Amino acid sequence: MKSLSILGSTGSIGVSTLEIVAAHPDKFRIIALTGAKNLELLARQIRQFRPKLAAVADPADITRLRDLIPGQEVELLGGTEGLCAAATASGTQMVVAAIVGAAGLVPTAAAIRAGIDVALANKETLVTAGHLFMELVQRHKVKLYPVDSEHSAVFQSIEGHRNLDITKIILTASGGPFHNTPIEKLQNVTIQDALNHPNWSMGRKITIDSATMMNKGLEVIEARWLFDIPAEKIGVNIHPQSIIHSMVEYIDGCVIAQLGTPDMKAPIAYALSYPERVSTGVKPLDLTELAGLTFFKPDLERFPCLGLAYRALGEGESMPAVMNAANEIAVEAFLDGRISYLQIAQLIEKTMDAHQAHRLNSIEEVLEADHWGRSTAYHICSTLQTGRHS
Ligand code: NAD
Ligand code: MG
Repeated sequence: MKSLSILGSTGSIGVSTLEIVAAHPDKFRIIALTGAKNLELLARQIRQFRPKLAAVADPADITRLRDLIPGQEVELLGGTEGLCAAATASGTQMVVAAIVGAAGLVPTAAAIRAGIDVALANKETLVTAGHLFMELVQRHKVKLYPVDSEHSAVFQSIEGHRNLDITKIILTASGGPFHNTPIEKLQNVTIQDALNHPNWSMGRKITIDSATMMNKGLEVIEARWLFDIPAEKIGVNIHPQSIIHSMVEYIDGCVIAQLGTPDMKAPIAYALSYPERVSTGVKPLDLTELAGLTFFKPDLERFPCLGLAYRALGEGESMPAVMNAANEIAVEAFLDGRISYLQIAQLIEKTMDAHQAHRLNSIEEVLEADHWGRSTAYHICSTLQTGRHS
């Protein structure tokens, strides 16, 4: 029996994680859950999984949450302190880090400092503060299991192999909804078009990141830290069917890949149950039913965000944190209808151009760089809207 605390249990990854937990009550139990805005769902999860602790992002929501679960015995906390208490709740053997964005950093670090293994979905953790987190993981001797499907695929493909025998990691990307859209039409795509991901069902922010391919850029940076592989050995292939979830190439010319029906329950379950495997209900793969598997090189003119991520990784230090912050602001502005699809990349690039990369020595400094990136992007965004910079 493994005891889990889930940070971000009301999100797409959180809900899929709880489906796996519900299907295996003999293997997993819940110690703590956290959420932000969707208090009704958090209340339902508390009733079903009976955690001893639950936390909400805003302490002002504690009373409303309490009113939704009359008579339920559960400690309710709020704010960063509450999220950290959930991440370190006594008895927790593994934390599922599934908060979206930079808000996930501090509670994830708290879990690691408490010596608790982490199933990591929150890619922003390694994107913004990869060197600090990997140092923390080593110092506290905890295990970090990737939840992101590409990194789970790499993790499964390097089992039993030596890092020095790897010549390349190839992350696959679906190409999102705009892989085939004529470039001149990209200026008119709508929010709905961008949210219409062909293969994966995910939260809104990551769905837009998939459309721009910033998601793959973030994953390249994530892979650099998780697998201790330099940027020049990490490639990206567009693979529209999302059947091969990523591959590893070795010095002898062999390539090992992991395949499966695209469903996040598979990589989540592997992170939870490693080294064992548990049933997930994911549809088994029948390759004979598929029309074919195809692969393309990504076009950086179509997907400038991918190029920006490689640039940020190359410049290093505070640049990836600033890029990530600018991306969060840009995606939010796009989803609010304040900027166009093509302005997402423009806004990120202008923010990066305005930044002088500097070394980050602590998570507080990462959060400062994040804050700088957000406020600078926010300011540039207002000039884009008025057209002064466009
Ligand atoms: P989501 O938007 O569906 O859920 C996010 C969760 O974080 C929710 O529980 C929400 O309540 C919580 N949250 C949001 N803002 C918060 C804040 N300020 N403080 C505390 N909690 C907050 O997102 P998701 O799609 O489940 O993604 C979660 C993370 O996993 C992201 O970092 C994403 O990049 C990564 N990821 C997701 C997928 C996927 O398929 N959804 C795949 C790979 C990686
Ligand atoms: Mg992914």
